[in-house]
Amino acid sequence: MQGDFAAHIKIFQDLGAKTHLVRAPRDLEEIDAIAIPGGESTVMSRLSERYGLFEPLRARIDEGFPAFGTCAGLIFLAKHIEGASQTFQQTTLGVLDCTVARNAYGAQRESFQTTLEVKELGDSIPATFIRAPKITAIGENVEVLASWNGAPVVVRQQNIVACSFHPEIEGEHRLHQLWLKNIQGRPE
Ligand code: GLN
Repeated sequence: MQGDFAAHIKIFQDLGAKTHLVRAPRDLEEIDAIAIPGGESTVMSRLSERYGLFEPLRARIDEGFPAFGTCAGLIFLAKHIEGASQTFQQTTLGVLDCTVARNAYGAQRESFQTTLEVKELGDSIPATFIRAPKITAIGENVEVLASWNGAPVVVRQQNIVACSFHPEIEGEHRLHQLWLKNIQGRPE
């Protein structure tokens, strides 16, 4: 629907997964899991409501449908937004028990790259932060897989993995792979 989905598609295809773009509720019938890219979370909220996708997607993920989110995707999955816009009541899917502060890692020109140690990968990965959301609180079912400067930046809650940054921009595939392994190993 919106954002840098092409970069995710390339990574999933390289990992041997079949991909299908989701724009309408009927697309949900074609998929076993969904990745929500970086982009602009307010636009994702508006478009998904306009296309009737918001509620079916929310209900599915809430029932255990696997979801992966990067940057704006994390915001769209999160339960709470700290300091949300007063002029536009931004809705989120609310399926990931955490609070995020939008753009808290700075404006576009303050974008930066770093490397992060990720639990279970046993290795560090490159991470690009672009107007990235900061995770300011997490629920007790949420596990932290990586932190940066004391704040969680990769989190997992059962079927959901989400991160504040963009691994896909670097063509970094190991987080995508970790999520795919998690959901393939999950009991039905
Ligand atoms: N700041 C954007 C938002 O609020 C997210 C930026 C990104 O995905 N790189 O949606």
